[in-house]
Amino acid sequence: MNISWETFKVHTAHPFGISRGVKTGDDLVWFRLEHEGIEGWGEAAPQGYYGESAATVEAALQKLAPSLEQVEDPFRLESIERDLRSTLGHNGSVHSAVSSALHDWVGKRVGLPLWKMWGLDPANAPLSSFTIGIDEPDVMAEKTKEASEYPILKIKLGSPDDEARLRAVREAATDKTLRVDANAAWTPNEAVEGIAMCAHYGVEFVEQPLSHCDWDELAFVRARASLPIVVDESSIIATDIPKLDGLVDGINIKLAKCGGPREAIRMVHTARACGLSVMLGCMLETTLGIAAAAHVAPLVDYVDLDGAALLKEDPFTGPHLEAGRIILGDAPGLGVDRA
Ligand code: MG
Repeated sequence: MNISWETFKVHTAHPFGISRGVKTGDDLVWFRLEHEGIEGWGEAAPQGYYGESAATVEAALQKLAPSLEQVEDPFRLESIERDLRSTLGHNGSVHSAVSSALHDWVGKRVGLPLWKMWGLDPANAPLSSFTIGIDEPDVMAEKTKEASEYPILKIKLGSPDDEARLRAVREAATDKTLRVDANAAWTPNEAVEGIAMCAHYGVEFVEQPLSHCDWDELAFVRARASLPIVVDESSIIATDIPKLDGLVDGINIKLAKCGGPREAIRMVHTARACGLSVMLGCMLETTLGIAAAAHVAPLVDYVDLDGAALLKEDPFTGPHLEAGRIILGDAPGLGVDRA
């Protein structure tokens, strides 16, 4: 295979705040492979929280290049991905870009969209939420009104004045399904209080109330929680999931964390075996990154694939949201083109 990549910048339509800080954009990496005249594409959305950056992605791809260039049969997805993991260790966004590109190539080669290759029905994909980042309560209420087309909103909390922020959103969206993501910001006692407050405002579930690794604290909070708890920062790959059995109600899968669509599907089935519900989320990503997750969406219970919808500009077209509904289309592979 021939491979190439380029780093590019995307900007958000509005400053995007979560408990860890505010973003106005991100550096993403567009990865391309070519074999027998067919191209496969993938996107890396590296996150500092998980120890990655555009620079680490480029260095990792340099390291992987010799083995990728020797691949003679891209259909051997399992063994190619296993070899990549043994060369590189876990670099979630890099593996996701390469895995997405390999699957895109296979789909184009056989002339089928990935959802069809995997035996899925796009009608089973749940509606996606749209995220309202942390800001002043009146700004969050304004963003809530701007997001009127979306029936489900995900509210970022985990800062002082959480209640004023959630109240402002609830008053601007009295009938909508609301979900809350604290992004690991609360202490155990704050989480117990925060979850009770969320229940008061009719929130459906709370995502990642606590820091990512303390199981005893998670048990303490869950025993006192009146809403389901979904973890995101605590569930990176499939082998993390059995440890969470009994401590949470669901997990949030992201391709940039886990390493791509193949590991994402493994995570879905592992979570099901543990009786957990499954959410599928994203980073700030273009339509190229979102597409790779969107094809997995018919397998999950909750979807939060608004990454491209939060951007000011999107260099790609393909699977997208219409009023929260995921439109997958029939184009082969990921179904993504340049805008
Ligand atoms: Mg989250």
